[in-house]
Amino acid sequence: MQPFTHSAFASRIVFARGATAQIGDEVDRLGISAALVLATPRQSQEAEGILEQIGSRGVGTYLGATRHTPIEVTRDAVRVLQRLSADGVISLGGGSTIGLGKAIAARTGVPQIVIPTTYAGSEVTAILGETENGLKSTRSGPEILPETVIYDPARTDALPVALSVTSGLNAMAHAAEAIYARDGSPLYTAIAVEALAALHKALPEIVKEPQNRAARDTALYGAWLCGTVLAGVGMSIHHKICHTLGGALDLPHAATHAVMLPHTIDYVEEVVPNALAPAAGVLGHRAGQALYDFAGELGAPRSLRELGVLEGDLDRMVELTIAIPYWAPRTIEAAGIRELLQCAWSGSRPGRSFS
Ligand code: NAD
Repeated sequence: MQPFTHSAFASRIVFARGATAQIGDEVDRLGISAALVLATPRQSQEAEGILEQIGSRGVGTYLGATRHTPIEVTRDAVRVLQRLSADGVISLGGGSTIGLGKAIAARTGVPQIVIPTTYAGSEVTAILGETENGLKSTRSGPEILPETVIYDPARTDALPVALSVTSGLNAMAHAAEAIYARDGSPLYTAIAVEALAALHKALPEIVKEPQNRAARDTALYGAWLCGTVLAGVGMSIHHKICHTLGGALDLPHAATHAVMLPHTIDYVEEVVPNALAPAAGVLGHRAGQALYDFAGELGAPRSLRELGVLEGDLDRMVELTIAIPYWAPRTIEAAGIRELLQCAWSGSRPGRSFS
């Protein structure tokens, strides 16, 4: 047994199809008497529904959540919170809305209830990424962690298939990197393998039948587990490259993860072939290549080119990636990263040039 340390953040988790019906109880449990419901414009109707459901315990909605958690939006939302004397937030949506709730909580200390509607996993982490003057910075702390998460798979039944697939692969990236994390533990590895198995089973079923409730339940369960490992251990090369590309080129978050995952995992496996060995029962012995084939089966985007990245951008992305040193199971060096990005840009099956 390798020595390890294990630490965990704990939100209260309520998981059930239809669990949104319990929102009033959860609001009371946290002593919230004036909740502000947060969402993106696209999910405004659902947010209004939640407000109606909590009756006199709700004071309004803020429907301006947007990607990258811009600080101006947070300031505006805090002004609304204060004007309405709200004493808690309910974030309904994906990582963007959850990010806004965290940013508000970090500034005001109000408790958060989250109803996630994608598989991104932000709801169980104490991490907040924010953008100011076009620059994204990340911080973490216990005040950022949502108090309560209501996982209601019914809220994901209408998640468009394309977003279900990319968001699911985004979640799987958390689990994959947790397995080789420097600060991992046997418990996090077990959770990560269970998470990969759940999403590996559920996503093809969702593609075939988007309203398949059992598959939706399993996918959201997997997403919770993926978020749990994301919260508990440090991410590595894959997340670093995705943040670099996403920030510098303003790419869609989940789709960037979906494209990059096979390539980043393969990059690691070239030098550390057993990096994902605990997940061999799910992904086989060459996980990067298996993930490439899996993404193809799901109809996910598989090239940076189709996300609008120009081949001429790749050299700059290499420079940005290697500029700030960080730990990875395989040394991050310019030539290898350039090759990885070229392969991801063209959408070729990873590993071809090495075998
Ligand atoms: P998102 O929240 O940006 O959502 C994308 C779009 O899909 C939005 O318009 C949203 O309203 C819509 N949508 C969400 N759920 C829907 C549903 N069920 N039906 C129909 N439409 C729906 O996307 P995301 O991928 O969930 O989140 C990405 C953001 O989350 C990124 O900014 C990322 O950095 C952040 N994130 C943060 C953490 C963390 O721990 N801090 C973890 C993961 C992701």
